[in-house]
Amino acid sequence: MFGNAAPKSSQTLISLLIVEDEPRYLESTRLLLTQHVQHIDTALTARQAYALLAANHYDLVLLDLRLPDGNGHEIMTHIREHAPDCRVIIASGDSEIDSAIQSLRLGAYDYLRKPYEPEELINTVRHVMRKLELERDNQRMAQQIEQSEQWHRLLVNTSPDIIYTLDAKGRFTYLNDSVERTLGYMPGELIGRDYTTLIAEEQLDVALYHFNERRTGDRATRNFEVMLRRKDDLLSSLTERTSEHRVVVELSAMGMYRPSSLGMGEFLGTYGVARDISARKQAEATITFQAYHDLLTGLPNRSLFKDRLGQAMVHAKRHGQTMATLFLDMDHFKVVNDTLGHLVGDGLLQALAQRLRGCLREGDTLSRIGGDEFMLLLPHIRSRDNAAYIAQKIIASLKRPFNIEGHELFAGMSIGIAIYPDDGDNIETLIKHADIAMYHAKDHGRNDYKFFTQDLHKSFTGRLAIENEMRHALDKTEFEVFYQPQVAVESQRIRGMEALIRWNHPTRGMVTPNDFIPIAEESGLITPISEWVLNAACHQAMLWRDSDLPPISMAINLSPRQIEHPQFVDKFVHALHKFMPDGHGIEIEITESTLMRDMDGAVGKLRKLADMGVEISIDDFGTGYSSLSYLKKLPINTIKIDRSFIHDLTGHMNNGSTIVAGIAAMAKGLKLKVVAEGVETREQLDYLQTLGCDTYQGFYYSRPVNAEAATEFLVNPKV
Ligand code: C2E
Ligand code: MG
Ligand code: MG
Repeated sequence: MFGNAAPKSSQTLISLLIVEDEPRYLESTRLLLTQHVQHIDTALTARQAYALLAANHYDLVLLDLRLPDGNGHEIMTHIREHAPDCRVIIASGDSEIDSAIQSLRLGAYDYLRKPYEPEELINTVRHVMRKLELERDNQRMAQQIEQSEQWHRLLVNTSPDIIYTLDAKGRFTYLNDSVERTLGYMPGELIGRDYTTLIAEEQLDVALYHFNERRTGDRATRNFEVMLRRKDDLLSSLTERTSEHRVVVELSAMGMYRPSSLGMGEFLGTYGVARDISARKQAEATITFQAYHDLLTGLPNRSLFKDRLGQAMVHAKRHGQTMATLFLDMDHFKVVNDTLGHLVGDGLLQALAQRLRGCLREGDTLSRIGGDEFMLLLPHIRSRDNAAYIAQKIIASLKRPFNIEGHELFAGMSIGIAIYPDDGDNIETLIKHADIAMYHAKDHGRNDYKFFTQDLHKSFTGRLAIENEMRHALDKTEFEVFYQPQVAVESQRIRGMEALIRWNHPTRGMVTPNDFIPIAEESGLITPISEWVLNAACHQAMLWRDSDLPPISMAINLSPRQIEHPQFVDKFVHALHKFMPDGHGIEIEITESTLMRDMDGAVGKLRKLADMGVEISIDDFGTGYSSLSYLKKLPINTIKIDRSFIHDLTGHMNNGSTIVAGIAAMAKGLKLKVVAEGVETREQLDYLQTLGCDTYQGFYYSRPVNAEAATEFLVNPKV
């Protein structure tokens, strides 16, 4: 008879309590309703009814008014007070109208008069059930709406974008929480204020019609970029404003209108979404910067330089102005890198860039275009003197040493200058001519500047003539080998001779190899010329060996083209066999760049010569571009320190001495002989001694001289 009521919140379940003192009646009613109602409890007395009502929740109570221990109306009053959402249907045999009225007043849902038709009862109960279901649906919907509103509010407020509305006058009426994260304002601080509060003043013009957009549809604002000011921007003074106080947003906005049957109604304001894209902008800026700058020094790179040069050229042309392009190349950077390490090398480049910047005006463009090469654009110069002045200023500024990681370093620069429009009217030509002028400066002792001249150009175009003349020089025996002694630093004894070619030109006089060897290399004439030198030098070596003189070595210079020649080894072996069959006493000088060109090919060939007793020297050491990796592949005997470093030796610790000491120490570690080239003074010689160099060569002892004079040195050595 007693049972558990259904759980309160079930959707379709209905729980019913039947209160009826007539047991048979009660049972038949229960049976009648079991098919329609999910859960039914029954009570025969008021007491039982109170007990069940206290323990359970019922959706519906079918109530008899006359009970042995109480009155149905009292139970109704109880229900109204304790379970107001419980419906009550009165089933009573009472025919008095008053009783019915009283029941309805007390909130009865319906009134059934006993005896009632089963249909009547079922319909009434069904009706209640339907109503209940409707009410529950309504409730659920209301709940969902409430939830979804919260959900939308959450979505709007957690959105990373600023979402706002403006009224028709452009004043904020709504802002989501994102405005605080993005701009530092609480939404409430901005409500009622004009939208222009947020816009950076220099952007006011462009943003004017977008932020408070009136248009809708396709013409509304989409992805419009605008700069907003953060709250701290407003607070900071003009001078200390930084980009941190600004935020770039991408804005989409549209007008809001009151719906109207006549089309667009009254303008209500603007709805907008602003997305913070500062981080993306920053990343874009970084990528663009990296594409156009050298990351080590932060200077523009070659492509940006060319771009600026192009623009400056257009401007100069239009206004009839003159401008200068300077090509700057650091002297001996490679050696700093190799002997002191890349960290020091990088540090030197950075410090150098910094110092160069200090010599320039705003508007000049300094660019690093490669390893130790810089280019400088002076877009407005009044005369060539201006460019010369800047070049002098740069060279003078480099007189002070750099202190990098505890090393005191000097950075010399060779500078070539080309003037627009005189020396070229397009980018490539100007750069090429500045480059040619730079090489000219390097040839003239480095750490200097030179203007491009048409003569330099001629010396380039004059090549053809030289080439022709060289072809005949071999036949006409205009070539001659000179010899320069290589001398022991300690004892001043001659240890060897270097064979250096000369050209006794009928009209130009004595031409030095620097003026024709490069042309001979390009034209291929180097092969017969070298072969001739090789034979002459080996012949001379044989003569000296066969006279009654102390043994010395003969150093012969090899050019890259010569080594590349397929018959190089055969020709060399042929000359050796003819004059110096065992190879001992013959030394070949190659430069690092020779090895760089074709390391593997050259190594194989040079090894064959080494196997025959020929020694190998690295010439002009420190000016090449290769790493020391060749030391592992080739049996190197000697390193010849380039004369430019010796030139820098002054007796004070400086670049030259740091480098020479470094090379000497390295050579000692590798058990290599060291020859210092280009020793011109006693001071340099003394200094070399302290640095641990064993052999030197240079004008101090003797210039290169002809065979006769060289023999004289051997017979009667200087002391
Ligand atoms: P290199 O092999 O480094 O020769 C040393 C150069 O330094 C020589 O120039 C010599 O005259 C110069 N020199 C020697 N002592 C001093 C000094 O105290 N001060 C100064 N300022 N210079 C000094 P040269 O004879 O004009 O030769 C230049 C270059 O031409 C040589 O440099 C070498 O690379 C190349 N060369 C010379 N002869 C031949 C050759 O027969 N074949 C090949 N392939 N190259 C050669
Ligand atoms: Mg040499
Ligand atoms: Mg040399």
